[in-house]
Amino acid sequence: PFRQRLLVVANRLPVSAIRRGEDSWSLEISAGGLVSALLGVKEFEARWIGWAGVNVPDEIGQKALTKALAEKRCIPVFLDEEIVHQYYNGYCNNILWPLFHYLGLPQEDRLATTRSFQSQFAAYKKANQMFADVVNAHYEEGDVVWCHDYHLMYLPECLKKCNTKMKVGWFLHTPFPSSEIHRTLPSRSELLRSVLAADLVGFHTYDYARHFVSACTRILGLEGTPEGVEDQGRLTRVAAFPIGIDSARFIRALELPQVQEHIKELKERFAGRKVMLGVDRLDMIKGIPQKLLAFEKFLEENPCWRGKVVLLQIAVPTRTDVPECMLLPFSYQKLTSQVHEIVGRINGRFGTLTAVPIHHLVSTVFLVWTDRSLDFHALCALYAVTDVALVTSLRDGMNLVSYEFVSCQDAKKGVLILSEFAGAAQSLGAGAILVNPWNIIEVAASIGQALNMPAEEREKRHCHNFHHVIMHTAQEWAETFVSELNDTVVEAQLRS
Ligand code: UDP
Repeated sequence: PFRQRLLVVANRLPVSAIRRGEDSWSLEISAGGLVSALLGVKEFEARWIGWAGVNVPDEIGQKALTKALAEKRCIPVFLDEEIVHQYYNGYCNNILWPLFHYLGLPQEDRLATTRSFQSQFAAYKKANQMFADVVNAHYEEGDVVWCHDYHLMYLPECLKKCNTKMKVGWFLHTPFPSSEIHRTLPSRSELLRSVLAADLVGFHTYDYARHFVSACTRILGLEGTPEGVEDQGRLTRVAAFPIGIDSARFIRALELPQVQEHIKELKERFAGRKVMLGVDRLDMIKGIPQKLLAFEKFLEENPCWRGKVVLLQIAVPTRTDVPECMLLPFSYQKLTSQVHEIVGRINGRFGTLTAVPIHHLVSTVFLVWTDRSLDFHALCALYAVTDVALVTSLRDGMNLVSYEFVSCQDAKKGVLILSEFAGAAQSLGAGAILVNPWNIIEVAASIGQALNMPAEEREKRHCHNFHHVIMHTAQEWAETFVSELNDTVVEAQLRS
């Protein structure tokens, strides 16, 4: 059967490449939100275009890597260290990421950023053009080109400039902030105009889409309609496409003997205690200190729960795809030490009240620091034994961890405490306990409510969320976006 070709363009390819010799590479598929979403899509003949995460200055190395990647249907964009520094570390991660998540920078950083802004934006545009060159080299008529995320906001413009017929979609995986925030960006108009060159622009939630449309109306003076944004008769369709997960993959994993074995071990280890779980990249947006402070408040106010509840906080190192030569911004190091300090204090305060102090000391708040991703089977087992999952993001495009937790809970029917600032609050809000993570008293009270929730109510809430998670999968998300993109292009042709 005919399958439409889909070119997925994202900053990172879904593989990690390790150089073994002058012309030999070993490749490993790396997990992550977008990757797991698109692995489930089988309707299209998908190809990935992106950066492999390594600097390959020599031609022999580039040729060998290109060949190795071709077997995985991946096409590399080669970015040199200077470009990566300015485009990826600089413009993407120090400017767009914090801005889109409403994170204020310290005053000195803000000034430094203002100074380096122009050169970083120039590098951003240059990098986007390099992605466009690779797309153009591989494009065949009829292909759908799907650009992903804040790294590639300048790409739709680059692509359409060469070929107005190309079907171009762009999807943002982060929040899109209020137009009042976007207004502060020196390159605000150029970025909006470039995104508008796409045929279809997608966001996780209706709110993000609305923010984008109002940025276009207020900053560019264009007309916003229920369909999208209009500019001199040309419509850019703007809509919400909430992502999902490959829930079947999680449900299947729970049946595996090794996962069952993991589950048994965890149950024995935490027998007699309720298990609370947090799984986050160690990032400012995840509200990890806020979560820990709320847990502390809960233990403070509920002496009866001391020794009867354990919080497993899995912190995954963030941005490990940054080459080692580049240090993470200072604020990440500060966050790490801040989290360590709070964990130490809570364990010191409440860890002595148990019969097994040392064991308890380690596990009142249990941080697993891994330099690799947490093993998938171990993660499934953790999700399955959890009584209460705690997601306290201060801002989060969607938050797939909350979906993954729900998908693994059909036996246990645990409770999800979910930040109202995560995109997932729009879809899992009816089943979860929604909280404002800045309000530690409210989060502490919600922990109490979750731990004491009657089975009947837990079941009702869980069923609501479980139904949503298994019905709205990643596969369905991708199919909906691409078919909407095809339709949008047909409608535009009919209009003109
Ligand atoms: N994850 C992972 N390794 C880990 C822990 C988590 O690969 O050690 C996965 C997790 O299963 C989820 C993703 O990373 O699919 C995190 O996605 P989410 O939307 O929750 O947050 P993001 O990190 O993208 O901001």
